[in-house]
Amino acid sequence: LKLLVIGGGAREHALAWKLLRSPGNVKVFVAPGNAGTSLEDGLENLPITAIPELVDFAKKESIAFTIVGPEAPLADGIVDAFRAAGQKILGPTRQAARLETSKDFAKSFMQRHGIPTAAYATFTSASEAHDYLNEKGAPIVIKADGLAGGKGVVVASTLDEAHAAVDKMMTEEQLGGAGARVVIEEFLEGEEVSFIVMADGRHVLPLATSQDHKRLKDGDQGPITGGMGAYSPAPAVTPALHAKIMREVIHAAMNGMDQEGEPYTGFLYAGLMIMPNGAIKVLEFNCRMGDPETEAIMFRLKSNFVTLVEHTVNGTLDKVEAEWDRRAALSVVMAAHGYPGSPRKGDVIHGLPNPTPTETSETPEADFYVFHAGTALGSEHGKEIVTAGGRVLCVTVLGDSVKIAQRRAYEIAEQIRFDGCQMRHDIGHWAINHHRR
Ligand code: ATP
Repeated sequence: LKLLVIGGGAREHALAWKLLRSPGNVKVFVAPGNAGTSLEDGLENLPITAIPELVDFAKKESIAFTIVGPEAPLADGIVDAFRAAGQKILGPTRQAARLETSKDFAKSFMQRHGIPTAAYATFTSASEAHDYLNEKGAPIVIKADGLAGGKGVVVASTLDEAHAAVDKMMTEEQLGGAGARVVIEEFLEGEEVSFIVMADGRHVLPLATSQDHKRLKDGDQGPITGGMGAYSPAPAVTPALHAKIMREVIHAAMNGMDQEGEPYTGFLYAGLMIMPNGAIKVLEFNCRMGDPETEAIMFRLKSNFVTLVEHTVNGTLDKVEAEWDRRAALSVVMAAHGYPGSPRKGDVIHGLPNPTPTETSETPEADFYVFHAGTALGSEHGKEIVTAGGRVLCVTVLGDSVKIAQRRAYEIAEQIRFDGCQMRHDIGHWAINHHRR
């Protein structure tokens, strides 16, 4: 069975890793992949990013299905192109992906379908945006409408910061076209959780719950990043809350997309704020899995992932259920010097555990794995692996509790070294301290 995963981060490494561990003879191509995916038996990197070439490759190699990791190819219509060529692919169409690619679309969609979210207004004029800020006061949240690689959101605690954010996005056009339109949103306080489902257009299969730490520094300080660590499950999501999220957010969104003529297929990620009074509000929808949530979630998945994806692309998700390891999984990201601004490339990585032999369904999995993100094979010294992006590695472990998993993850991460490495030392602290809340 030949499969294709689009992307080159730790999320895609984890997806490919899990597919490879499904029963049967599975081969997974990763386009473009990274050093980690190039070294693993059964995975093969494909140095292609152009959509027409990917379609040709899938046809030529008889790829059974393709999974799309990141949002950019979805925004570029990769799903539409594969489907037009009769190829099976997991992801939303370009139109459906607007749930992520336009914050204005997402907010108005939520309003149309009664999905709870923060109050907001949308602006294309900077002076009107400034007036609105003066009227509302701080704290307040400013979001570029379009995709901005995680850099399009400013949570402003003062009015000065808020005005500066509007200037940067709208007047100085620092995010290009993505900031020509901005959404200004009420600041919400509560606990954030990630809720991800697989969707086939009509049915949904919820994946295990998770939480990620978006800030660069310990204690949730410093700039917002793509994510510095995550764990699953999220203790904040009780069974009652789970049912409420499925009803008020997931089914409401699926029905809404269907009503609007764009049945949603692929992974749907709801970033949620759990308010102190138990209410839930949607902070954002993503049309793909989260990174690093994926790494933790894939580590807990006990079901055959190939089967789950097959049911999703065939529209029969109601026929399957997912089984999860009762243990907690926790992921710690090791990032490059300069991340999230301008990450430095080329630092040699030392102390990486050897590539783990491919486990089969009959042999037990190791309790940890080091997924690669921004890594490359060093050209000058043969076998060296060097940093090649912002987030470099993602150490993922299983443990009987988040606390045990946290200790083990840091034992492994401490063995790995590269100049300028940035990592948090408190991933999981919300879960560990949850009983004290
Ligand atoms: P990502 O790159 O993770 O997809 P994004 O750039 O699409 O993120 P959002 O998820 O909308 O942006 O916001 C990023 C972060 O900003 C959120 O995870 C949350 O911590 C914070 N945030 C967003 N909206 C609000 C809000 N209304 N109130 C408080 N914090 C918020």
